[in-house]
Amino acid sequence: MRDKLSGLRRQVESCRRCKLWERRNKPVFGEGPEDAEIVLVGLGPGYHENLEGRPFVGAAGKLLNELLALAGLKRGDVYITNVVKCYLPDNKATDEGIRTCTPYLNKQIEIIKPKMIVLLGNVATNYIFNRFGLQLASMRNLHGKAFSVSTLFLQTKIIPMYHPAAALRNPDLKDVVRNDWKNLGEWLRPKNMSEGL
Ligand code: URA
Ligand code: SF4
Repeated sequence: MRDKLSGLRRQVESCRRCKLWERRNKPVFGEGPEDAEIVLVGLGPGYHENLEGRPFVGAAGKLLNELLALAGLKRGDVYITNVVKCYLPDNKATDEGIRTCTPYLNKQIEIIKPKMIVLLGNVATNYIFNRFGLQLASMRNLHGKAFSVSTLFLQTKIIPMYHPAAALRNPDLKDVVRNDWKNLGEWLRPKNMSEGL
């Protein structure tokens, strides 16, 4: 399994499939244990991520670390990646960027086979819901809920969450987001996880 992910990482690091490669410093492939039970999917690298080549190292990342702690998780427990792997100057992914880059995300999920996928924000939610044929609704209706997915290669729970950056922009959301992550922590207690949530 290790070889599969690192081979994919090498492909991303030299990828020029869409024009986002022109403005990137370091592609952000993702990081975390290759056998993680939980995968987090954000949007794409911002300024700091592009400099470091690591996901969620800026302000949103700081809040994400706090939220993980509320769920009883450490960063090192989860695999963190994004829908798009190269720098998004205005935090906006284009349809073309998403279409071109998401085969990498699909492959990461296929290799890791997580028991849970936490979607951070609207773009990750739209993409993954469409991909698995789930019925999309607004984040207001979806946030913090678990959706089961079962395919030939994957049995998982999908949990849409507000993006941490949305909570930074809109302080009214902060309590909602914190509450969602606390609830996630409840689900993750060993007893609940072994019962399949
Ligand atoms: N926002 C994201 O969606 N992903 C990151 O890696 C950083 C900020
Ligand atoms: Fe390749 Fe994705 Fe980067 Fe586009 S955003 S160049 S598809 S790695």
